[in-house]
Amino acid sequence: MTLKHDPSMLLAALRAALGEDCVRAPLADDAPELRDYRRRYQGRALALLLPRDTAQVSTLLRFCFERRIGVVPQGGNTSYNGGATPDGSGTQVLVSLRRMNRIRAVDAANFSLTAEAGCTLQAVQDAAEAAQRFFPLSLGSQQSCQIGGNLATNAGGLNVLRFGMMRELTLGIEAVLPDGSVLDGLTGLRKDNTGYDLKSLLIGSEGTLGIITAATLKLWPAQRSSATALLAIETPAAAIRLLSVLREHVGERLTSFELMPHDAVELVRTQVPEVRMPFTPTPPCLVLCELTSAAIEPLDELLQAALLAPNAQADILDAVLARSEAERMALWQMRESIPEAQRRHGPSFKHDVSVPLDAIPSFMQRVSDWVLQSAPESVLICYGHAGDGNLHCNLSARPGADMATFKARESAVQSFIHDLVMQFRGSISAEHGIGQSKLIELQRRASPVKLALMAQLKAAIDPRGIMNPGKLLPDLSGQ
Ligand SMILES: Cc1cc2nc3c(=O)[nH]c(=O)nc-3n(C[C@H](O)[C@H](O)[C@H](O)COP(=O)(O)OP(=O)(O)OC[C@H]3O[C@@H](n4cnc5c(N)ncnc54)[C@H](O)[C@@H]3O)c2cc1C
Repeated sequence: MTLKHDPSMLLAALRAALGEDCVRAPLADDAPELRDYRRRYQGRALALLLPRDTAQVSTLLRFCFERRIGVVPQGGNTSYNGGATPDGSGTQVLVSLRRMNRIRAVDAANFSLTAEAGCTLQAVQDAAEAAQRFFPLSLGSQQSCQIGGNLATNAGGLNVLRFGMMRELTLGIEAVLPDGSVLDGLTGLRKDNTGYDLKSLLIGSEGTLGIITAATLKLWPAQRSSATALLAIETPAAAIRLLSVLREHVGERLTSFELMPHDAVELVRTQVPEVRMPFTPTPPCLVLCELTSAAIEPLDELLQAALLAPNAQADILDAVLARSEAERMALWQMRESIPEAQRRHGPSFKHDVSVPLDAIPSFMQRVSDWVLQSAPESVLICYGHAGDGNLHCNLSARPGADMATFKARESAVQSFIHDLVMQFRGSISAEHGIGQSKLIELQRRASPVKLALMAQLKAAIDPRGIMNPGKLLPDLSGQ
C-alpha cells in the first residue's frame, strides 16, 4: 500500500483519535515487533498502535478503513511464517494487543473462561488452574504467544490428540471488523445453531478478516492423574501400530503421542547437552506418550498394562516411565528441545505438514530416501505430533556440509516434500498457518474453488483489503 496522506499528519490524527500513549512512532529499524520470530522477515511500519480496549481497536480500524491504511495485528510474535510482520513499505500500522491482557471472567460452573486477546497462553492456563480447571492448549511458546494469536493461527500443539485445536477449544469470539464494527460473539453456550459459524471463520484467518479482541474458551476439569512414558522402537510404522494399541487400551486418556526419530534426538544430544538422555545409544525411533485424567486413578498401571499387551510388546525395544514430575519434565524437555537444537545447529528448512496416520511410515521413508539421494548435504529432522498425523519435516545441514549447496536446495526440497504431501492428500500447513512464507505454495496447491471462495469471503468482510495485506491471500487491494 502507498500512503495518500502525509505521514506526519496521519500520525497526528491517530494520536488525536487514540491518545498519545497508544501510538508509537517512529519505530527503530531493529524494533523486535518489526522482525519475525525466525528472523526471515524484516518490515517497517508507520506506527505501532497499542490499544487498551475494544473501543480503541474499533476507533483505529475505522480510521484505517477510511484512509485505506494496511493493518497488521500482532500477538506474541512467535509464529513461524512471517504472518505478524509488516511489509517493507513503512505505510502499514502494526497493532499489538499486548495491553488487552485481562481475564474478563472465569465461569467454573460453566467450564469456561473469557480472556482478552493479549493474554498470554500461560496466563490463561494459570487462570484456569486457579479455578481448579484446565485449559488444554499447550505450546512451546506459551509464555509469549497470546490468545489472539492462538485463535488467529488456530494453534495446535501437544494435546490435540485428545482436546483438539484452538477452534475446538473456543465457544465465542469478540472481534472488530475492518470497518470498525464490533462482532460481539462472546458466549459460553455449547449449543447455538443460529446461522453461519462466524467465530470459526475468524479462527485461523491470520489477521486477514479483523482483529480478535476477546474469546470465551472451553475449560476442562483439572487433570489430577498422569502417566508419561518414553518408548524406544524400531520404525515409524511401529509407532503407528502402538498408537492404535494404546488408544484401544486407554481410550480418551491418551493425550499426547510424539514421534522423535534417531537423528532428531541425536541433534538434541549434541546441541543441547544439558538435556538428559534416557537411552544410550540413541534408538532408531522414540515415542513420548502421555495419559491424563481428571479422576484420581492409577494411570501408571494402566499405561504399563497397555505397553505389556502382546501386540504392543512386539514393537517396543525398551521403555522408561516417569516416576516423578521431575522425570516427566525431563522427558518433555527432550522433545521440546528439538527446535532449539536445530536453531543452535544452524540454518534449516522447515515444513509443517500432515498426512493420514497410515501414510506416516511411507511418507517418512520416501522423504528420507530422497534426501539421501538428492540432498546429501542435509540431514532429515522429521518429528512431531504423530498422533495427529502432523510432522515437522525439517532439514538441517550435515556437519561440514557446504552451506551454499545446502541453501541452494531450499526450493527443490520444499517442492519435493509438498508434492509428496499432496500425493498423500495431506496438508502443507498442519498448524503453523500460511502467513507470507507459504502464500505462493497455497496459491499453487489449493483447489481453485477453495481459493475463489476464500477470496470472495475476504472481499465481503474486508472490501478495502486493509487487513494484513499479502498474508494468507495475495494483496489485491491495488493500493
Ligand atoms: C518454541 C515455539 C513452539 C511452538 N509450538 C507450536 C505448536 O506446537 N503448535 C502450533 O500451532 N504453533 C506453535 N508455535 C507457533 C506459534 O507459537 C503459534 O502459531 C501461536 O499461536 C502464535 O501466537 P502469537 O500470539 O505469537 O501470534 P503472532 O505471531 O503475533 O501472530 C500470528 C498471526 O496471527 C495474527 N494475529 C495475532 N493476534 C491477532 C489478533 N488479536 N487478531 C487477529 N489476528 C491476530 C497475526 O497477524 C499473524 O498473522 C510455536 C512457536 C514457537 C516459537
